[in-house]
Amino acid sequence: MVKMKDDRIRSFDDLLSDVISAGICGKCGGCVSVCSANLIGALKLDENGFPAYVQKELCLECGLCYMTCPQTHTVREEVKSRFDWKEPVGNYTDVISARSTDADVRKAATDGGVVTSLLIHMLEVGHIDGAVVSTSKDGLKREATVATSREDILLAAGSHFGELPHLEEVGDRYTNYVSVIKYASKTNPVKLKKLAVVGTPCQITAIRNMQALAIVPSDIMTFTIGLFCMQCFEMDHLMEREFLKHWNVRLDDVSRMNIKEDFILTLNSGIKIHIPMKEIEEIARPACLRCEYFANDYADISVGGLGSPENYTTVMVRTIRGRMMIADALSKKSIELRTGRTEEERKVDRLGMISLIEEYAARKRTRGKSFMDKLQS
Ligand SMILES: Cc1cc2nc3c(=O)[nH]c(=O)nc-3n(C[C@H](O)[C@H](O)[C@H](O)COP(=O)(O)OP(=O)(O)OC[C@H]3O[C@@H](n4cnc5c(N)ncnc54)[C@H](O)[C@@H]3O)c2cc1C
Ligand code: SF4
Ligand code: SF4
Ligand code: SF4
Repeated sequence: MVKMKDDRIRSFDDLLSDVISAGICGKCGGCVSVCSANLIGALKLDENGFPAYVQKELCLECGLCYMTCPQTHTVREEVKSRFDWKEPVGNYTDVISARSTDADVRKAATDGGVVTSLLIHMLEVGHIDGAVVSTSKDGLKREATVATSREDILLAAGSHFGELPHLEEVGDRYTNYVSVIKYASKTNPVKLKKLAVVGTPCQITAIRNMQALAIVPSDIMTFTIGLFCMQCFEMDHLMEREFLKHWNVRLDDVSRMNIKEDFILTLNSGIKIHIPMKEIEEIARPACLRCEYFANDYADISVGGLGSPENYTTVMVRTIRGRMMIADALSKKSIELRTGRTEEERKVDRLGMISLIEEYAARKRTRGKSFMDKLQS
């Protein structure tokens, strides 16, 4: 977190020194989105995904980029109060374990396919006009896209590898982080007025900051699905070699990756390898190790695999809108609660999921603080 000494307006120069040079920029793209939304065009994301000036002279020193950034916490109190935030993982009204009722979705999904089926349901009944998701492109590479059909949403399900998972295919570097927020801000608000966005906590926080500041086009982002996020990672050729050395796994042998209690690789042979979170920190993005967001506290619903059995999604229902959408999807049977459980067992499951979410959120806060302390010492 950036500590401010006075209340002068901060510009992109301050973002460069307080966040980017300080090594806590998560490359969410929020700053670039608000600036380009104002048609100033002063900023871009550079070839490594970091924000940078295109032309410094174009900067109006309005401070919007600084206030939008999830790492500066400038409007944090406003956002907290809007979402009735409570210790330790924000406000929520329910936590359920659920899955899609559609076999095609379940086959493609990371966990239970709740995200994909909920998005399809919301689109088909008109709650949204489209969804910003991340879809596979050229093997390993994923990119943000606005899905406006069932087919497009289904194509974006899960986090599968394609047929040619070589780092050469993705420019020598693979990252599982995708800047959906930058894409969402490019959407044409004339055509799409109600957009769902699926994103990591840093991205959803940037959207909430924009909404607190009433920056267009955050008004069309009417539903947010927040992924739990311990870390995103990126790998280059050197790390790929380390991967082979430590875990005897080649990327071309991997068919699927997932993050729950630990990091799970499913090999083409069907074998699953569980790698403890601590060990995978080696390939985490440096900013992710300094990040304290885990449970996506300001999303309408937060989702992850944590706490649910295989092929189910853990869903934290947070806002009234989140509650309405989940209730609607359950009543129309697009999704279903974990099967074969009595009401009593569901209550126990709920407590177990909450306890794990709180535990991982605490772990992440402690890790973030300790990496920040090391950085500042
Ligand atoms: C980078 C990352 C880190 C995660 N970390 C954790 C964790 O630590 N613990 C945990 O329990 N769960 C974590 N998750 C969430 C988990 O992997 C599942 O995405 C979640 O449980 C939803 O499962 P599902 O089957 O319902 O989703 P699906 O139906 O498979 O849909 C997943 C949706 O997420 C979108 N998506 C995929 N990758 C990205 C991305 N990089 N950025 C934005 N959207 C994306 C897809 O386009 C799709 O719409 C993480 C997910 C990601 C992408
Ligand atoms: S014009 Fe405003 S939003 Fe754009 S870089 Fe300058 S201070 Fe940031
Ligand atoms: S808004 Fe996002 S991309 Fe911009 S400096 Fe902050 S963390 Fe980095
Ligand atoms: S850990 Fe997740 S929320 Fe934090 S910066 Fe990385 S991607 Fe964003």
